[in-house]
Formats: sequence, structure tokens, C-alpha cells
Amino acid sequence: MAFCDLHVHSTASDGTDPPGMLGQLAKQAGLSAIALTDHDTTDGLPAAAESCREHGIAFVPGIELSVDPGPRVGQPDTALRSGTLHILGLFIDPDDAQLADIRVEVKKARGQRNPLIIAKLQQLGVSITYDDVLALADQQDTAIIGRPHIAQVLVNRGYAKNINDAFRKYIGQGAEAYVRRDPLPAARAIDAVHHAGGLAVLAHPIQLRYEDPDELEHFTAGLASLGLDAVEIHHSDHSERHCRQYQKLAEKLGLLISGGSDYHGTRKSIALGSENVPFEIYQTLRNTPPRFPRSTPHPPHPRRSPTFPPQA
Ligand code: AMP
Ligand code: MN
Ligand code: MN
Ligand code: MN
Repeated sequence: MAFCDLHVHSTASDGTDPPGMLGQLAKQAGLSAIALTDHDTTDGLPAAAESCREHGIAFVPGIELSVDPGPRVGQPDTALRSGTLHILGLFIDPDDAQLADIRVEVKKARGQRNPLIIAKLQQLGVSITYDDVLALADQQDTAIIGRPHIAQVLVNRGYAKNINDAFRKYIGQGAEAYVRRDPLPAARAIDAVHHAGGLAVLAHPIQLRYEDPDELEHFTAGLASLGLDAVEIHHSDHSERHCRQYQKLAEKLGLLISGGSDYHGTRKSIALGSENVPFEIYQTLRNTPPRFPRSTPHPPHPRRSPTFPPQA
């Protein structure tokens, strides 16, 4: 059987493997296709595409966007927003202008948020500086600096046992140095992915933290009405029961399915390809034309070649 992994990070965001290594690693993991889906950046795509081409791995150019989950279903608008909404764009054109606007905005928002996190940490008596974080990011050729990099500095300086511990003790949701980022509306994220010719995928629905399946369905139906194309059913945070639940949800809402490990190199204990996602999932996504909401009047892009960028 052939497998794919459609959710992978590199050093361009918070993974620890350079994008140019991914082809070889995918080959070693026995994969036939991978998607590089770094947070809020497409900087790693050319090197990853080239490395996949060299190793005969089909490559999907992707991105992972952090999105405002909005008010919680079943709760008043004023309720504290919790849960994480990430939208994956798969088969995107990295040069798309609408996506580029979002990348610039997000980078600016992160540039404002990261020093606020550091200031809160310093108030808690943690003596690290933003320069420490920048130095780490620099070493790794990172385009997008986020909490994982801050967490790494906390670990390196002995303030936390490991990355998870750093999130739990300091910078995760609910911890004392947590700072919320100005989030992107879901409609904009989905539109931008479509504008770039891609498919918009609801990443790891478990992280939305809806206990009630009906509430999750209501929420996902809202995204579907904005043009969501698919649900990530295979993911390292999902049990088999979740996977089945999300598959049924996708079927019910007429959405496609996707899957990936959310590999981050050594920053998380998840192996590349560990979800054993059938290659057919990649093929179905690849062969399905993007949906265009009426609000985006532009001609569809052709689906990208599996060896993006196309060979001369
Ligand atoms: P940011 O985009 O800067 O808010 O950072 C979010 C990223 O941090 C996620 O994509 C995860 O890779 C990572 N992350 C979030 N929570 C945890 C956690 N509890 N343990 C380890 N990594 C986490
Ligand atoms: Mn991450
Ligand atoms: Mn995510
Ligand atoms: Mn991810």
C-alpha cells in the first residue's frame, strides 16, 4: 500500500528539518506524497519541492493558517474564545497576491505579539530576551517566529523540561504569559486559499475542543458555507474514534477528507508518515477542482503539478 503525509512542518516555521531534507526523509519513511504546510509562510516550498522531485515524491505546496474560531457554538458571543482553528491550504500557488497579503499581516502581528510574550515572561521572573529568540530563529533560517521558538529558548535555559512543559507552565492558552494573537477571520483564510487555487482543509478538528458532536457539526457547517473543502480526519492528536467521527462529519457535510501527522521534526515526538494516510486521499484531493465561493470572482487556477514547480 502507498501512503502520504499531508501535514508537515519545516524550519521555515516551527519544524526542525530544513525543507530541502524533506524529500529524502519522506522516501525513508516510505511515503509517496507529502504536503509542506508551514505556519503562515510559503518560504520553504521551493526547496521542499526540489527535494521531493529528486527523490520521486509527489509534492503538495501548502500552508497552515491560524484563524479566529469566532464565538463558541452554544455560548454567548461574549464568552471567552477558546479552542484552536487552523486552516490548511493544499495545492496553493505560493505567489498568490491575496495569500501574500495575509502572510505580511500575520508576520506583522507576530512581530507585535512575541515581544509582549517576552515581557510577560520577564514579569514572571524569567530572564530571557527577544534577542535570544531571534538568535535561535536565525540559526534555523526561520521565516515565521512563534511560541514554539520561545518555548525552545525556555527549555534551553532550563525554565522548562521540554516544549510541552513550556507551553503548560508559561505560554499555552490559560498560562500566565499567554498572549492572544489578532486572528484572521475564517472567511478571509478560506477565500485566500481558493484565490491561490488551493483546497481549504479544517486541520485537527480535535483542537477546536468541541465535546458535543452536534456543536462541532454546527461549527463545521458554518465553515462549509464559507467554502471549506475538506476535513483532516487522520492526525496525530486524533484517536481512531475521533477519526471515524470526523469522517462521518465530512460525509454528512459533503466535504472531502485529508490526513497528516503534523510532523515538526524533533520539536514534537511525532514521526513523519506516522498516520499511515492512504495515498488515495492525496489522489482524490489532487483531482478535485477547488470550489469558488461566489464572493471570489476569478478564474480557477489549474491544479499544480505533483512535482511543483512544474519541470521545464
Ligand atoms: P503560535 O502560532 O506562535 O501561537 O504557536 C502555535 C504552535 O505551537 C502550534 O502550531 C504548535 O506547533 C505549538 N504548540 C501549541 N501548543 C503546544 C503544546 N502544548 N505543546 C507543544 N507545542 C505546542
Ligand atoms: Mn506548529
Ligand atoms: Mn495546527
Ligand atoms: Mn501543523
